[in-house]
Amino acid sequence: MDIAPQADRSKMTVSETEIAIDIRKMNKWYGDFHVLRDIDLKVMQGERIVIAGPSGSGKSTLIRCINRLEEHQQGDIIVDGIELTNDLKRIDEVRREVGMVFQHFNLFPHLTVLQNLTLAPIWVRGTPKAEAEETAMKYLERVKIPEQANKFPGQLSGGQQQRVAIARSLCMNPKIMLFDEPTSALDPEMIKEVLDVMVQLAQDGMTMICVTHEMGFARQVANRVIFMDQGQIIEQNEPEAFFSNPQHERTQLFLSQIL
Ligand code: ADP
Ligand code: MG
Repeated sequence: MDIAPQADRSKMTVSETEIAIDIRKMNKWYGDFHVLRDIDLKVMQGERIVIAGPSGSGKSTLIRCINRLEEHQQGDIIVDGIELTNDLKRIDEVRREVGMVFQHFNLFPHLTVLQNLTLAPIWVRGTPKAEAEETAMKYLERVKIPEQANKFPGQLSGGQQQRVAIARSLCMNPKIMLFDEPTSALDPEMIKEVLDVMVQLAQDGMTMICVTHEMGFARQVANRVIFMDQGQIIEQNEPEAFFSNPQHERTQLFLSQIL
């Protein structure tokens, strides 16, 4: 899908000096199952990374480790200079910097859109209600659904709900956004409206890691595509080279199945 004719790479700049995420020799197990193996990944500020790979390869686990929704057992994960350990204060600090959007939007069904957006700013950050609502409306305008503010999630389409979920993350002013298959649960006609919001975010300079099967998005927005298989990063490259000249046999097989 040609999702983003407005995507302008020249506007998307990557810092050459500031490291957003530094993962070194990271390993994780679920019980006996070795799910992530020797992951080394350095993400500079402003990078837009797409992670691709077959189901079960560890993509979700990897990005969930970045905000400690999952715990790693070996190696280091350093996010915006903060090392992730069992120290709850540091975990909180990292979560302040990192927003996450899931496949299933995870909105609170009994709260209005506006309440979904202001809940954490008011109760976690202590932002005054009027200010939190003003910020929420700003982001609802950014994702092009300010008129939905007083509806409940169940009254919105899937694409609208996902845009609310993105706006909700942005209300916490994150430096890094993680997306885990944000369009996989959407009907095809709604995918573009969500991807357009993500393109806009990229253009605004957000550091992003996106697990997605939308290879059009990867081509137009990512500066790096990472391919995972069986818990390892087995190949990474600029999108042009990644798609036209995949090196690894398993990458070739994967691309032949999805393109
Ligand atoms: P992907 O997102 O690439 O599909 P996941 O990170 O969800 O992969 O899963 C990687 C592997 O870890 C899969 O084999 C999955 O079954 C397993 N797994 C995921 N979550 C858990 C869990 N909480 N407990 C045990 N195994 C898990
Ligand atoms: Mg997954």
